[in-house]
Amino acid sequence: MPKRVETVVLHDSSTPVLGDIEKGGSVIVTTIDTVLNQARANSLWPLTFGLACCAIEMMSTAGPRFDLARFGMEAFRASPRQADLMIIAGRLSKKMAPVLRQIYDQMPEPKWVISMGACASSGGVYNNYAIVQGADQVVPVDVYVPGCPPSPDALIYGIMKLQEKIKRGQSPKSLKDLRMVEMTPRHLEEVNV
Ligand code: SF4
Repeated sequence: MPKRVETVVLHDSSTPVLGDIEKGGSVIVTTIDTVLNQARANSLWPLTFGLACCAIEMMSTAGPRFDLARFGMEAFRASPRQADLMIIAGRLSKKMAPVLRQIYDQMPEPKWVISMGACASSGGVYNNYAIVQGADQVVPVDVYVPGCPPSPDALIYGIMKLQEKIKRGQSPKSLKDLRMVEMTPRHLEEVNV
């Protein structure tokens, strides 16, 4: 189905648009989707979800040395209702998995997820009964940042990759994209997977 095309004209509200054009003013023709995606990509509000050592690197990312504010996202939120980007920083235990999923469910749409570090992405060195072997068994992950721990630069690179996806108009991963889980039936029931 063809996309609906809208026209956005930037002009001084006190001056008629045609007058602006005659005086050499600028006109931008674009789609509403493009404008929205640009705005979304440059104003992501991350949710803090620090689970282990990777969280220290995530905190550094927001500090003055790396200054995540340059990308319009310095406002880490403590409430899922005010956030649209979940950064899973650290290994995810099976006990914590239902909590992670509940917080994800409470975030408003559209929402994105970054899996930070080897543990969050694949269980890392914790190949045991207590750790989920990849957060994408519980929530849909859009970007994986490798490393143990990934440096703040690596996290910023992952965020920039996510921004590119949003600007391209790529939809966030949905619950349909979850990997099949190897969790116990009780956990599966709790997280509704
Ligand atoms: S990836 Fe490394 S730094 Fe991150 S939580 Fe696992 S062990 Fe800690």
